[in-house]
Parts: sequence; structure tokens; C-alpha cells
Amino acid sequence: MTIFSKIIAGEIPSYKIAENDRFFAFLDINPVNWGHTLVVPKTETDYIFDIPDAELGEMMVFAKKVATALKSAMPCRKIGVTVLGLEVPHAHIHLVPLQKEGDMDFRNKISDPDPARMREIAEKVSAAFEAE
Ligand code: AMP
Repeated sequence: MTIFSKIIAGEIPSYKIAENDRFFAFLDINPVNWGHTLVVPKTETDYIFDIPDAELGEMMVFAKKVATALKSAMPCRKIGVTVLGLEVPHAHIHLVPLQKEGDMDFRNKISDPDPARMREIAEKVSAAFEAE
């Protein structure tokens, strides 16, 4: 079971943003910028391009809905989209609110983000998602 499956199962706490029957979204614990969110499928696949076409399409549509909520809740110009997958072997899409290119520099992560601020962001984005 991957760490993300444990988060989805509620065995490990997370700053949850949203879920449906197939996908789950939560804040990255070491964000590159405030509001940095991960979108993951509930089924475990390591490499994103091993996900079957239909599910991959649905994952992107779910990510779009999360990105719309992020954009309305966080001050930013656009939501950046990245897939790395070098650390956790459970496919995920990174969504990051951007004011400038450097806001998506994965070498500059916020290492010890304030839990109160993370909670506040998760609640705000989650409410925007529910309002869509
Ligand atoms: P990568 O697999 O290279 O895309 O990186 C995995 C991402 O997952 C990193 O940005 C980590 O900060 C993030 N991450 C790892 N563990 C957790 C966790 N328990 N909760 C939230 N994010 C996590």
C-alpha cells in the first residue's frame, strides 16, 4: 500500500481538498508554493502513463475541477500543472498556484509549512470546490 493509498484510506492524516469515487486531492506536505495540491487516483498505478486512457482522461477532468477551485481561492495568475513521480510510486498530478515561473521550482520547497495556514488553505479551496 502506498503512502497515498494510506492517506485516501484515512490511515495517515492529510489536508484534504476533495474526492469523488475514483480520485482524491490533498495539499502537498512540502509545498513549492501555498496551495500546492496533489491529485491522485484511488487505484494504485506507479507511472501516470500506465493508467488506462479513460481513467487518465477522468483524472485530468477531476484535476481541472480542483484547479478551478484553487484559482478562485488562492491569489494567482494561473494554476501550473506538473507530473514528476520520482518520490512516491503512486501516480499524481501536482497543481500549483502561480504568480511567476519561480513559484514552481521544486528545488525550493516550503519545508515546514505552518499547519494552521495549511488547514486554512485546505478549507478555503475545499469550499470553493464544493461551490462549483
Ligand atoms: P514526486 O513523486 O516526485 O512527484 O513527489 C512526491 C510529492 O509528494 C512531493 O512533493 C512530496 O512533498 C509529497 N508528499 C510526500 N508525502 C506526502 C504526504 N504524506 N502528504 C502530502 N504530500 C506528500
